[in-house]
This record gives sequence, C-alpha cells and structure tokens, in this order.
Amino acid sequence: MELIFEKSMPGRRGVVLPALDVPDAAAIPAALRRAKAAELPEVTELDAVRHFVNLSRMNLSVDSCFYPLGSCTMKYNPKVNERIANLPGFAALHPLLPQLRRGGALTQGALAVLFETEQFLSELLGFAAFTMQPMAGSHGELAGVMMIAAYHKKRGDAARKVMLIPDSAHGTNPASAAMAGFECRPIPTAADGNVDLAALRAALGPDTAGLMLTCPNTLGLYDPNVREICRLVHEAGGLMYGDGANLNAIIGRVRPGDIGFDVMHVNLHKTFATPHGGGGPGAGPVGVGKCLVPFLPASRVMKRHDGSYHLEYHLPDSIGYIAPFYGNFGIILRAYAYMLSLGREGMRRVSETAVLNANYMRARLQDAFDLPYKRACMHECVLSGSRQARENGVHTLDMAKGLLDRGFHPPTIYFPLIVPEAIMIEPTETESKETMDAFIDAMLDIAREAKSNPDALHAAPVTRPITRLDETRAARELDLAAL
Ligand SMILES: *Cc1c(COP(=O)(O)O)cnc(C)c1O
Repeated sequence: MELIFEKSMPGRRGVVLPALDVPDAAAIPAALRRAKAAELPEVTELDAVRHFVNLSRMNLSVDSCFYPLGSCTMKYNPKVNERIANLPGFAALHPLLPQLRRGGALTQGALAVLFETEQFLSELLGFAAFTMQPMAGSHGELAGVMMIAAYHKKRGDAARKVMLIPDSAHGTNPASAAMAGFECRPIPTAADGNVDLAALRAALGPDTAGLMLTCPNTLGLYDPNVREICRLVHEAGGLMYGDGANLNAIIGRVRPGDIGFDVMHVNLHKTFATPHGGGGPGAGPVGVGKCLVPFLPASRVMKRHDGSYHLEYHLPDSIGYIAPFYGNFGIILRAYAYMLSLGREGMRRVSETAVLNANYMRARLQDAFDLPYKRACMHECVLSGSRQARENGVHTLDMAKGLLDRGFHPPTIYFPLIVPEAIMIEPTETESKETMDAFIDAMLDIAREAKSNPDALHAAPVTRPITRLDETRAARELDLAAL
C-alpha cells in the first residue's frame, strides 16, 4: 500500500484555513523561523480518510471480527464510555488545578469519581481500600509487592525475602517481585492444574514474604484449594498477593478479600471496559486489606464530613509516589461508567456468561484438539495443538495463521508456557452463540485440514495483505513502507 506521502501532490489541501489574524512569519525573528517547510503530505480530505480507513481494514480488530485472545482481554467497550470520557469537564481538566477554594469546584467531580470508583471496587472485591494510581496490571503488581516489602520491614521482619510464584503465573509476576527486591521461587502446578500443595508446604518458611496467586489461574482453572493456600501462607507469616487479571471469571460472585487475599490488582482494561489496542493505555488499581492500608501510595483521595473531597499527602508509612498525579484518569472514568451501567447484578451476569461461553467452546472443541486439563474451565479454555503437531506436523502457529484466512483473529497461543502448543480461547460474555459457532466451525475445519492438507496450513495466511513475517527481523529492522 502507498504511504500517504506518496499520494502527496503539491498544493492539494484537505482544509482551507481562514486568513491570518495574527502577524505572519515575517514578524518572527529570522533565527526562530524554520528554514524549509514542514514535510507534510499534501492531500485532500477524501485521500486522507480513505488512506486511514483502508489501513485500518488491513487489520482484524474487535470492531470488525470476533477476537478470542485469551488471558483476560476486554473486548466489549461500550461506546457510551467514550462519550463520557470525552466530556470537557473531565477531558480538559488540568491535574494541577487546586482541590478547593480557587478552582476547587472544578476538581471535586473528578475527585468524586476517583473516590467512588475506589469504593465500588473495595465493595466488589472485599478490600478495605484501593489505590487508583497504577497504570497497568504489572504496575499494580509492583505497587502491591512494594507494600508487602514495606509491611515486613515495618515489623522488623528482615528475613522475609522470598516471593513464591506458581509456574503458571504471568511473567510479570516474577518481574515485579524481583524489581521490589524479592528472590522468586517457583511453585509447580500439579497434574490436575492446581497449585501443588505439597510443594507449597515444603517451600514455606521464615523467609517467605508472600505468594502471588492468579485465581482462576492462567490455565483458566479455579483452584478449589485457594482458602487453604491463603491459610498456609498466612500461617507461615507471609501475605497473599492476588493477580486479578482473571477477575472476569468471578466478578460479582467471589470477593477475594473475603477468602484471604491481602492485596490484589485489577486490570481495568481487562475487566472494566477500556479499548487497549497497541499496548495501552491501561490501569491497574490495587486493593488492600486492613494490614496494608498504611502503605498505600501517596496521595489518597479522602472525603470530608461536609461531603467535599481532598487529596491526603501526609501518609508517613506510604510507599510514596508510583505514578504522576492520580493514575490514568480517563480509564478510571470509563470503569466508573461501566460499573454504574451494569450494577452489582450486571457484574454477576458478566462472570456467569463469560464462564458459560468458555465452557461451550471447550465442550465443542475438546475432541478435535487436546484438552490438557480435563475439567470445567472458567472464563477461558486452554487447548493444545500437540496432537496436530505430532501426527500432522502442523503446529499451533500454523493453525493460528489458518484462522486469519478464515476471517478470525487468532486466540492467544503458546501461553501459558506450561502447556505445549497452547491455544487459549476467551470468548467473553458479550459474544452471541452464532459468532461462537462460526469460530468453532473454523477451528474444526482447521483440524480437518491439518490431516488432509497440512501444507495449506504451513502456507497460511494467503488471503491477508501480508503472509508470514520473520517476526524477529520485522521488529529489529522495522520497514513500514514494505507493503
Ligand atoms: C495481563 C496480565 C498481567 C499484566 O497486566 P498488564 O496490564 O498487561 O500489565 C498480569 N497477570 C496476568 C495473569 C495477566 O493476564
């Protein structure tokens, strides 16, 4: 496809500006004037619109097709949230406006949104308080494990240096724990997909700072021993960190704070509606039980007796600032709108339907593909392409590429790492049965093709604007003009 610069014709314009009503360039000192004109494409409005619409159509997106990526991707982002996030009273608010007195009236609404979102999340998840500052799940993890470190330090418990992390965890867990100064020790997954309790018991000791648990885990399985795990870790003097990325499976049904988690992050961009293509933006608020409240990041939004809000900076045990200002405010606002529109009962239906849909996928696909853990799943199901790899030389990557030819964005592949040839499908609660059936039919067609014509899948995709990339080289030697 042509670059927009290649469509450029001298003199073409998409807009006609009114005559200047300020002094023109001649009035600017020569030293400050640009020597040559800015290199901008000269195109008409139609050229510009068609260029970008056509570019967007080269991609498969949530707005154009089913998007079964697993590991908790939010796919339904009500457009009304965008309207709300764009209200000028929010979107144009400067973070340095005073909280009260002069200009205070302008910030009270935003502070109320931060405060109430915190309250909603605390209530939904069973925590004493939340910080809205972290700007991603992984950033929330870092804030959370820093609070665990501060907690042990405050108690003079300097020996607690080890963070236990199940081997099914997302890679950000050990990365965050290591950044906070912990030594990470993996806990194996048992044959049934749950935490290996014997291995956990053996690993616990006076050096245990805590355990980072994703529940349901990245295999899409709910660990029925979660209360016992919390009890064991607490008995050993450690704290329980909850990775809330999979909250979609339990929201409105389980309050992690009630079952023993001391601290947990929530990915607003996975569970509470935010378009997050291209790696951002996101938000990873962190909830804490009473024991960690003093360590929450500064500042905190407080409500006075007269109903007004202010930011509290005097927090002597706080881990300090972890983000500029108050977090990704626009994302928090979308989450607020989403929670208000669904209500408590709506949140519960989200998790029920998400789990039902994932199990429908599992039930209809488990004969054609390997199912590594033969039990009901939660909001996502993890299959394996091992059989096709072994019998037909067709790998999960080939099948993912085959889906592109059938008009579907592929599911997450090769994650979690403990499942060979992993295919992780998350339909979410918002897809219709017809859409899911169409995807299932495509997967079954691929399973048949793996047997009958494996080379067709080796060659896929053949209908997309580009075929297979050398992904490493594409990242290292980026050439955006190559199409
Ligand atoms: C996505 C994810 C994370 C990291 O969250 P980000 O918002 O991408 O930083 C952590 N753990 C699990 C299980 C995840 O799926």
